[in-house]
Amino acid sequence: MRQAHLTAPRTIEWRESNAPKPGPGELLVRIRAALTCGTDLKTYRRGHPKLAYGPFGHEASGDVIAIGKGVDRFAAGDAIMWVQTAPCGECAKCARGFENLCEHLFDGIALGAYGDELLLPSKVVRQNVYKKPEKLSYIEAAFLEPFSCVVHGWNVLRRADARHPLPRDVTIIGAGTIGLLHLIYAVRAGVDATVIARGAERRELASSLGAKVVVEADDAKAVEALAGSASAVFECAGTQQTWTLAAALARPGARVILFSGLPSGAVAQFDAAKIHYGEIALLGAFHFTPADVREAYELLGRGGMDVKPLVSGVEKMDDIARVFERLDRREGHKFALVPDGEEPRWT
Ligand SMILES: [Zn+2]
Ligand SMILES: [Zn+2]
Repeated sequence: MRQAHLTAPRTIEWRESNAPKPGPGELLVRIRAALTCGTDLKTYRRGHPKLAYGPFGHEASGDVIAIGKGVDRFAAGDAIMWVQTAPCGECAKCARGFENLCEHLFDGIALGAYGDELLLPSKVVRQNVYKKPEKLSYIEAAFLEPFSCVVHGWNVLRRADARHPLPRDVTIIGAGTIGLLHLIYAVRAGVDATVIARGAERRELASSLGAKVVVEADDAKAVEALAGSASAVFECAGTQQTWTLAAALARPGARVILFSGLPSGAVAQFDAAKIHYGEIALLGAFHFTPADVREAYELLGRGGMDVKPLVSGVEKMDDIARVFERLDRREGHKFALVPDGEEPRWT
């Protein structure tokens, strides 16, 4: 089998090896669709503090081709969807219910979605693999991972206000894939959404996905006019300025989800009086728990979630290096990769 490896910044090489035999609890999968992700692009550009160089790509779906001893929920030929990590269930964080912060989250992570085949570790198979509903295409099914992160963010939001788990309205900063997935979730939940997006193409996309109000990120006056207006804010643009903006947009009693990660050591500033007297909740959100993944799976599987417009293009897996060169030049946001010789399609 072949797998694309990231061997150094901006260097992707194909490696060939014998397909592994799945051990106890493991599954061997043939990849049918993979998606590029903002995290992959960050890793491509400068490496990742928690991920070593090697097999690359983590958002995918595919078909089971071999099963390890003790796996009874799946059989060869099953179409499945999964996420790349699973908690250990034993560390102090897991014991307190913070499985998304598990101390061993990145041990045995299923990386290598850009390739022919992938071995899924037993802890992932046990907790975070699902059968793909027939009405979902493999490409749509590969959205399970980013959508699980989004569902987790909304669950953090819901838990922070027992009286009003769902806000009346939400303002989303950033219209990348994650910002727009938050928008899709909000629209489905009946929450009025305002989106701050950069550029006509992303603004139009946000409107077409159901945003009530769309504001150009570079229009300082229009952004300023939103100050103090939001019952909930999702910050999905990933800069210190947008973290600060997120708090400024909040009205008294609002919840602010700081969803995007900043480099360690980054400091964001907030108006202390506004936070204190306005009783504004500043909340971090990271990754997902198995319960979030299940919820994301059920929401996706129910259908009617149009993630197609979030895909900038469908390309051949063999072109993965060129696809990352394009992402690096900011051409496109998220590409789908399908095996060579297969017609790129949605079903
Ligand atoms: Zn991802
Ligand atoms: Zn753990």
